[in-house]
Amino acid sequence: MTDVKGMLIAGEWRSGGRSSPNVNPSDTNEIIGHYAQGDADDMRDAIEAACAAQPRWGETTPQARHDILAQAGNEILNRSDELGELLAREEGKTRREAVAETRRAGQIFLYFAGEALRISGEKLASLRPGVEVDVTREPVGVVGIITPWNYPMAIPAWKVAPALCYGNAVVMKPAELVPGSAWMLADILQRAGLPDGVFNLVMGAGSIVGAAMLEDPRIDAISFTGSQATGARVAAACAKHMRRVQLEMGGKNPLVVLDDADIDQAIDCAIDGAFFSTGQRCTASSRLIVTESVHSRFVEGCLERMRGLKVGHALDNDTTIGPVVDQQQLANNLRYIETARGEGGSIRGGGERVECGRPGFYMTPALVTDTSPQMTINREEVFGPVASVMRVRDYEEALYVANDTQFGLCAGICTTSLKYASHFRRSVRAGMVMVNLPTAGVDYHVPFGGTKASSMGPREQGRHAAEFYTVLKTAYVEP
Ligand code: NAD
Repeated sequence: MTDVKGMLIAGEWRSGGRSSPNVNPSDTNEIIGHYAQGDADDMRDAIEAACAAQPRWGETTPQARHDILAQAGNEILNRSDELGELLAREEGKTRREAVAETRRAGQIFLYFAGEALRISGEKLASLRPGVEVDVTREPVGVVGIITPWNYPMAIPAWKVAPALCYGNAVVMKPAELVPGSAWMLADILQRAGLPDGVFNLVMGAGSIVGAAMLEDPRIDAISFTGSQATGARVAAACAKHMRRVQLEMGGKNPLVVLDDADIDQAIDCAIDGAFFSTGQRCTASSRLIVTESVHSRFVEGCLERMRGLKVGHALDNDTTIGPVVDQQQLANNLRYIETARGEGGSIRGGGERVECGRPGFYMTPALVTDTSPQMTINREEVFGPVASVMRVRDYEEALYVANDTQFGLCAGICTTSLKYASHFRRSVRAGMVMVNLPTAGVDYHVPFGGTKASSMGPREQGRHAAEFYTVLKTAYVEP
């Protein structure tokens, strides 16, 4: 009989009626495990358990919350090699990237363990004599968390850790492609001593268990990361229920390279930002905006560096670019490349399906040159190892093109000019700005999020996470 990893509902592991295999994108002959597929009843049970558990959890001491979060964070750090290997097997990023992501998840839990000890309020003098006013933070209640497949450990960590830190109960629905990391996190949290029902994991299809979460009026807030299309559904459902919502969605992040840039540094930023983690990062540098006089040096330098990238199995030591996550994403990437070619782009340095000795979803990274801002490749998020280059006259045109997008997650500039770097920081419409750094790669103690169609609601991460995971209460007292 197949061993099925279950969902965690009210402190019990539940196999549910169905299960599905977790397939390794580096080698589709390898089944990592079988994971339960929940239905709407499982989701309703999980929400009921969270509702029952939340009031007591919200009243636990900061020390108790700190200890559980710290225990979970330390276990993740201590097991980062093992957990990272599982992550690399199910998602396809390289072992090095996967272990680093796992360590990040552990650090995030430790950060919010500390934050549990620092939850504070304000006391103000009232306008009325003899009256006291104070402002305190309270838990929101039951938080629904919906996560994507591309950071199976770090994104759940940066939502679950603050949710628990501030006294909320959680129902989490991970992406279908990465149940393994979510299961590990649930197991670690439960053994760290969380009371039953405070954290619940319901695996399964977005259209079934995700939809059941959106429709349930007992959910007080939803934190979602994923595509813009799903984000729009989440937002609409939350509006219907007058429910708090936080959305982190796609990007089409520009990296501007000016004439005065350190060109080797700019190439490093572009290669890292565009292609590492197989380009499957919401902060990927997918639009490279380069001024005329450095354009050919920059493109030739990128192509040279791309020839040194090794596409292969996520666990092979010499692999720098793992496989694409699944067949559908691979087909999307190749379709975008064909569209770019059809619209007049030149495909340089790859963009082809390759064999790597095992059946997997492998493709070489692609640089598309001779593109213009109106081309599909510069307007829609590909979410793969595909970057386009746009040639511009000068800084002013570069800034205009950088802002000519519906997205606004992260933006980068490579320049040695303080004047342009400062102006870009102020003028680019993005939630995060990088100067002489890749657009991907952020710290966990500062806010993360974007503008325009990339994000909605308060920022994630760092102490600003309290804005989403708590509600303010203002109390007036005449003693
Ligand atoms: P997706 O929108 O397909 O899925 C995200 C999650 O939503 C999954 O758990 C999925 O099962 C669930 N879902 C799908 N349909 C649903 C429904 N009807 N109701 C409720 N839930 C539903 O996204 P994905 O393919 O998993 O992730 C890739 C996307 O995520 C990219 O657009 C990427 O840019 C974005 N992303 C954004 C950030 C960020 O912080 N801005 C970070 C990582 C990924």
